[in-house]
Amino acid sequence: MVRVTRVASGSIAEELGITPGTELVSIGGRALDDFLDWEFLSSDEAIELEVRQPSGDSVVYEIERDLSEPFGLDLEPPTVRRCANRCEFCFIEGLPKGLRKPLYIRDDYYRLSFAYGNFATLSNLKERDYARILEYRLSPLYVSVHATPWDARKKLLNNPRVPNVVEQLTRLAAGGIRFHCQMVIVPGLNDGDVLEQSLTDLWSFGDAVMTVAVVPVGLTQFSHLYTGKSMSAADAAALLATAERWADRARQERGDAWVYGSDELYLLAGRELPGPEFYGDFAQIENGVGAVANLRGRVAAHLSQLPRLDGQRFAVVTGTAMAPILPQILDGLASQTGAQFELIPVVNSLFGPTTTTAGLLVGRDIRSAVAACRDADVVLIPAESINEDGVFLDDDTLAAVRADSVLPIVPSYDFVDVLSGDALDSWRVGVKAA
Ligand code: SF4
Repeated sequence: MVRVTRVASGSIAEELGITPGTELVSIGGRALDDFLDWEFLSSDEAIELEVRQPSGDSVVYEIERDLSEPFGLDLEPPTVRRCANRCEFCFIEGLPKGLRKPLYIRDDYYRLSFAYGNFATLSNLKERDYARILEYRLSPLYVSVHATPWDARKKLLNNPRVPNVVEQLTRLAAGGIRFHCQMVIVPGLNDGDVLEQSLTDLWSFGDAVMTVAVVPVGLTQFSHLYTGKSMSAADAAALLATAERWADRARQERGDAWVYGSDELYLLAGRELPGPEFYGDFAQIENGVGAVANLRGRVAAHLSQLPRLDGQRFAVVTGTAMAPILPQILDGLASQTGAQFELIPVVNSLFGPTTTTAGLLVGRDIRSAVAACRDADVVLIPAESINEDGVFLDDDTLAAVRADSVLPIVPSYDFVDVLSGDALDSWRVGVKAA
């Protein structure tokens, strides 16, 4: 059973008399457990839908519809499936105490991998899950492989009962499922020969493995489980050398790079990042692979359309990782618009100095950065640091930070979203209203 939370006005669902709180029980006699069952089983032109109304009455509808017309209903959010692993590098284990509860949920669910691109380890897959993935063709899946040699993977996931991922991928690939894989590298555990073997195994899947990301282990000052080494510049350079050797081969044999070092890996190694053409369709941008190239590309594409902003002074708050990257981008924006940009890199006060990503800055960091602004008219902050409700990871809110600031504070993803003509007007209105 899956419960309806919203019904669009004028929709098929409303016409049928479905209301928020109605439980969708089955289609054609098959039980509905979640949004996946609903999405796939309701995709025929003619269906028999059994529902339980909020009153408790059961109703069966015979529905015929044009597939271009949506049902017009929202379902309750999917339940989580708790992760069975205990990775030493788990970011959730590296959170400080006292944050909001949902942040501590260690979810590891293939359906969120398919629906939202979350990485899953597949270590808790049951027979019914394989059947659903194959029947519904849940592809591509985003898989945290980390290592294909079984013993190394057991150690990395800190789970002696973890299944053999090569066998799992083989079974799913035989059913037409494809994968984006990530390898979070812990120096001494899954670099060197283990990485080589893992890439060899993943390469043997051919087109079924679409991309592989090589990501350095990311730790906070609270990563209490971690007993390994931190990643040095030499470790990062060695990982990149392996990734680039495989990428050269992949480009020759299949036309794309296939394996990609994350942006952080290049920064750790002190290496210049590749240009946008290296990343193809940026399949793993949410995993920090190609995000800098994408930012540079977006700024370059819109630069000539930006208005003159002579005399305007912008303070740009960022994490320490972007401090060496942004000056070149801001110089380009300054010469195009005539505005001045002051870069304010901030050390993360919640997670510690090893957490350098701008998107993980918290409200307290923004407050201290704003206090450090000398001559700005507007403060730009990383839009990724707040959720859709305007809340930072430390539960501070954008509204509260703005209320305590004499300067306008505007979230920005890529600068051009704020500096371009229409956006400029809207944030000016927004600033006045805030
Ligand atoms: S798989 Fe590892 S990193 Fe992911 S949630 Fe579980 S313990 Fe944490």
